[in-house]
Amino acid sequence: MENLSGKVAVVTGASRGIGRSIAVNLARCGALVVINYIKNEKEACKTLDMVKQEGANGIIVQGDVSLYNSAEKIMKNTLSNMGKIDILVNNAGISKVGLFIDMRENEWQQIIDINFKGVLNCTHCVLEHMISRKSGSIVNISSMWGKVGASCESIYSASKGAVNLFTKSIAKEMGPSNIRINAVAPGVIDTEMNSWLQEEERKNLIEEIPIGRFGKSDDIGKIVCFLAGESSQYITGQIITVDGGMI
Ligand code: NAP
Repeated sequence: MENLSGKVAVVTGASRGIGRSIAVNLARCGALVVINYIKNEKEACKTLDMVKQEGANGIIVQGDVSLYNSAEKIMKNTLSNMGKIDILVNNAGISKVGLFIDMRENEWQQIIDINFKGVLNCTHCVLEHMISRKSGSIVNISSMWGKVGASCESIYSASKGAVNLFTKSIAKEMGPSNIRINAVAPGVIDTEMNSWLQEEERKNLIEEIPIGRFGKSDDIGKIVCFLAGESSQYITGQIITVDGGMI
């Protein structure tokens, strides 16, 4: 297991799903965890309880990553409570499934604002601090669809494709400052995001996954700990696909 003792990690969208599991896994490795959420304070508190059960500590911080001022507040709040930020996990995201032709402008604006601009906002708001310390690790949660594109999720796929190329580019820019930036591209993970799937659709999807099951949030939490810690010190600008072999 990665040793992240004494490290401070901010996880956006950690009130449920993949973000919660990332927070708990980071806590298990010894990190102090900042749990960001937008609406669901009760669930964020539940994540904090789970972090504490791991023998670690943390705080919850409300904020909307799609708004620059709000992202800035999340980071300022963290710095005043924790004193530093070693790890940022840009996990907050939404998906909307449907034909592009049926989608309205405000819908694609929202997907781009949260999934892509949210990553830009949060990254921009921590970089000055990380550069001054010449240390930091950022992990962006992308998607396998950002690599190959998905029908009926074209804007979602595009937003994640943008995250992938931003990850590669900013990693080149920040390498000399000893800041590593990587992305994880999950496959189909069993969270609320996929709760709209009917039983038959789930079965059909599983048939397309060589490992024979949906991913668990924990599958993503573990790889994030690896990318956040010292074991991956020579890895930057990479998009690690965790999809049971699906693409
Ligand atoms: P989820 O269960 O729907 O949880 C989404 C999380 O993001 C919640 O904590 C939510 O907070 C938060 N959030 C939403 N909008 C936000 C905003 N504007 N600012 C701050 N937080 C916000 O989603 P998930 O399945 O865990 O997905 C997490 C990430 O993994 C996303 O980036 C998603 O695209 C990616 N991913 C998921 C899958 C999958 O199959 N599930 C596959 C590939 C990639 P509240 O609880 O307060 O609403």
